[in-house]
Amino acid sequence: MPSSHEPRPGSTASLRSANTQRILQALRDPARDHETAYTQAELARLTGLAPATVSGIVRSLAETGLADTVPGSGRRGTEVRLARSAGLVVGLDFGRLHLSVALGDLAGRIVAEDRQPLGPDVDHSNGLALAHAKVAELLEQHGATLEDVRTVTIGLPAPVTAGQVRSSTILPGWLGVNARDATAAQFGTHAHAENDANLGALAEHRVGAARGHRTSAFVKISSGVGAGLIIDDRLFRGSDGTAGEMGHLTLDTQGPVCRCGSRGCLETYASIGTVVGLLAERMPGATFADVVEAAREGQVGPLRALEDAGLHLGWGLASVANLLNPTILVVGGEMARAGELLLSSVRIGLRRHSLDAVAATPVVTGELGDRASLVGAVLLAAERTELAVDLVA
Ligand SMILES: [Zn+2]
Repeated sequence: MPSSHEPRPGSTASLRSANTQRILQALRDPARDHETAYTQAELARLTGLAPATVSGIVRSLAETGLADTVPGSGRRGTEVRLARSAGLVVGLDFGRLHLSVALGDLAGRIVAEDRQPLGPDVDHSNGLALAHAKVAELLEQHGATLEDVRTVTIGLPAPVTAGQVRSSTILPGWLGVNARDATAAQFGTHAHAENDANLGALAEHRVGAARGHRTSAFVKISSGVGAGLIIDDRLFRGSDGTAGEMGHLTLDTQGPVCRCGSRGCLETYASIGTVVGLLAERMPGATFADVVEAAREGQVGPLRALEDAGLHLGWGLASVANLLNPTILVVGGEMARAGELLLSSVRIGLRRHSLDAVAATPVVTGELGDRASLVGAVLLAAERTELAVDLVA
């Protein structure tokens, strides 16, 4: 909620408000674990504010219920952390066959989460009702209610423009639905809708494998292939949110017809369905996990299928590296479970088709596994929650 009386720019109140936001920002570092409190000296160092200023603002934050303070022992001084009563956020991650939900604090750190299988024919209203029920259950376990939830972010495996789901191939029950508005209505609070690969990119950048890298690309390979791009520490969404549709880079103009209607897209060479499909005759009924296990045992067919997917992915990543010059490329989604069986050929494909200057860009698997999009949903919800503080000047 915006403050009811914004201080005049340049006034003492406005300066104090800016300083308060700096302290709150320091307290809302998602990479810091819940339990480690800050000393006031540390907050002064992190914000560049005078110790007396910090201590005055911390006292006010404690009075308004946004911060908890604990008298420190010896030289540590008063310890400060973000209060749970400041509010919670919710992250939702809908996949083709799963639904994950999480509660997070306002730093974007997950405090409780759940993952459940979902039928492919669950439509958006039933899906949201299920998510709502699960969130209510997690809130109850934490002695909280829906009134404590400030913002909800929903992640979906589809391009999302201004909240609207733009493709139906993976989640047919969501086509044309404004996921942001539907989520806001279901939860009775602010909501954001975002593509799941974008959320994964954000999560790996803030708290995972791409932490500390200003420019990175995250490619999520599951039923489809999508990428999230971080440029200068910010998620790059393009003009209307559909940037990063890497699965539809053309690798062969005469290649197989893709679900998008084009031919020879990356996705037709490197997706879970393609790899499993290549081995359908040899390993009938096998899942991707079965393929990876067979490759680990040294079976030649599964090894070649993974290698070929990796080479094509590397080729696609070469274009990304040539265009964006990232300092790291992160591979996530279900296919990342193949680990080095996949990545070793990704690196060969990258080297072969990229400029010398970027050929050695590191390629790694994500640190957050199949939780990346969920972690990103919670982070985005926290980042989009403004804490308005009416402090007595
Ligand atoms: Zn395509």
